[in-house]
Amino acid sequence: MTERQSMSLTVNAARRTVVATAALALSALGVVGAVAPAVADAVSSGPAQVSGGTGPDAAFKRIGEVTRTSRTAAAGALAVRGATTGSTSYTFSTVLDGSPVRWDPCTPIRWTANVSRGPAGGLDVLKAAVARVGALTGTTWQYVGTTTTQPDAGYLPTRAQAQYPPVLIGWTDGAGSDLLAGQARSVLGMTRTAWFGVQTPDGKKIAATRGAVIALDRTDPLPLKGANSWSAVALHELGHAMGLGHVGDRTQLMASILPAVTDLQAGDRAGLAKVGRSSGCVTVPGA
Ligand SMILES: [Zn+2]
Repeated sequence: MTERQSMSLTVNAARRTVVATAALALSALGVVGAVAPAVADAVSSGPAQVSGGTGPDAAFKRIGEVTRTSRTAAAGALAVRGATTGSTSYTFSTVLDGSPVRWDPCTPIRWTANVSRGPAGGLDVLKAAVARVGALTGTTWQYVGTTTTQPDAGYLPTRAQAQYPPVLIGWTDGAGSDLLAGQARSVLGMTRTAWFGVQTPDGKKIAATRGAVIALDRTDPLPLKGANSWSAVALHELGHAMGLGHVGDRTQLMASILPAVTDLQAGDRAGLAKVGRSSGCVTVPGA
């Protein structure tokens, strides 16, 4: 049994064990989408396992804040810009073999919410944001009820077959979630994802997002709806959960600084379509 582990990636030719923490540690440095080359001497009786993650979304800030350029530069270096002009720009968080890593849009996505520390009416905001992203991506989301689990990195699955709801969205703070701990006061929300897949003997990699956790900073006194609202923040973070990265176009909701818009913009919507049902199902061999 041969097991190799790189900084960013677990390649395990013999078992279905995956280690998400290695990828998350890398993503904490602002590097997303990193995939190590195949282990040349791996003894393989089947596809090698690959895994990774994205986030945290440290750069999503209030208007007027300066973007943390070191993080956005690192992320931008690996992002694929689907379009570069004005209102149609979008990026993907992670690209494998030329395709964005995304959920299988042909499988319902179950989600749960922790609204115990959020604003009154917060759950309705989350439900509306999920419905919006579901409609724009052609994905089906199944709400399974509230939870008291904190939205932190520990919620993310460590293997592709996790049985609990793979998406958790909730309000918390730096003391309650490692996603917000130590972040600047200007940070509104953070998203991390985990993806799992395989690398076939011919080197082809295919993976699917299997988990996402969204931590909204409850200490930010935002209104529920309208510009600069929890609704806008939730839509932005759900864009990350679906596989989108930040864009330089400040008019898009996927900009790193919250723009004064109430909904996902043309570029955001174009990107969501690319990671959605219209791009076909995602089938990971052996998963
Ligand atoms: Zn963001």
